[in-house]
Amino acid sequence: MPDVIAALITGTQTLELREFPQHPPGPGLVTVDIALCGICGTDIASFRSGHLHSPAVCGHEWVGTVADLGKDVVGLQEGERVVVSVVPPCGHCPECLRGLTEHCRTASMVARGRDPLAPPHGGFARSITVAAGRLLPAHPDLTDEEAAQVEPATVAFHGVRRSRLRPGDTVVVQGAGPIGLLAQQFAHAAGAGQVLVVEPSQGRRDLALELGAARAFEPAEAADLVHDATGGLGADVVIECTGVPRLLQTAADLTRAGGTVSLLSFLAEPAQIDGARWLAKELSLVASNAFTHDDVRRSMGFLADGRVRAAPLHTRTIGLGELEQALAGLAAGPSDDVKVLVDPRSAS
Ligand SMILES: [Zn+2]
Ligand SMILES: [Zn+2]
Repeated sequence: MPDVIAALITGTQTLELREFPQHPPGPGLVTVDIALCGICGTDIASFRSGHLHSPAVCGHEWVGTVADLGKDVVGLQEGERVVVSVVPPCGHCPECLRGLTEHCRTASMVARGRDPLAPPHGGFARSITVAAGRLLPAHPDLTDEEAAQVEPATVAFHGVRRSRLRPGDTVVVQGAGPIGLLAQQFAHAAGAGQVLVVEPSQGRRDLALELGAARAFEPAEAADLVHDATGGLGADVVIECTGVPRLLQTAADLTRAGGTVSLLSFLAEPAQIDGARWLAKELSLVASNAFTHDDVRRSMGFLADGRVRAAPLHTRTIGLGELEQALAGLAAGPSDDVKVLVDPRSAS
């Protein structure tokens, strides 16, 4: 079997193409030929900062076709189009034994690429071998470009579900990157009264409006305009999607008394908050990490029926050879790219 060449972020501003020997999948494992893999904010942050995650999550948003099945795998067939998920609840970790299956420790380890079956590389490769439980059939109504965005869409879906959003609420989304643009749409679909987006890039603000935001502001205007849009009250829910640590306090300042800050971004550094201001307003913080197996199926339904649109987020598709340059551009700061997809079969 030919080796698999995979792109891995190995340090600050460093991407390496490495070869991995390909073996037939072992029991319970499935080999998937990858069609498209999205570049995630965590890949960009790793490239920028050198803060490395498990190699298995370097490229963790993919769609592909089942190429080979290990022994004992049921429910999947060769040639079937699949998207990446996390495993279903394991049933025997401390959380599962207490009935807290949404917080299954095993599924969380798998999501972070820290489980014993984690592959030695991620989805920036022609193929990948993963536990069968991580795969779900791609919804037939989704294009490959949409299916490659099921993972970030599900992150946004899970965050909105956890945010305690109620029909009619004013929701502020901080940051109109892929997660913010998906979260604003799920908030809308969940019945938000008005969705306001705060984003420095004009192009991304325009996209936020096209995708249904009532208003989109520059960060400098946000405090005044959220004040005006809510009669001085503040937002019921603020969803933080920028990943900038100091903006956690900004999110709290935009939230009304008794409201909720939903932390949906990965903050690579500790964030400073003004605890007295949180206390005075009796704010709640709801953090959201990844998603459950079942969330994937549910979020795909929203993408398939058009309530949530991923296609407008896709700005271009590149080959593995262009990945380093694309990461450098995305890591350098404001970019016209929103979601860049990598086609590992492409020659360039
Ligand atoms: Zn991601
Ligand atoms: Zn468990």
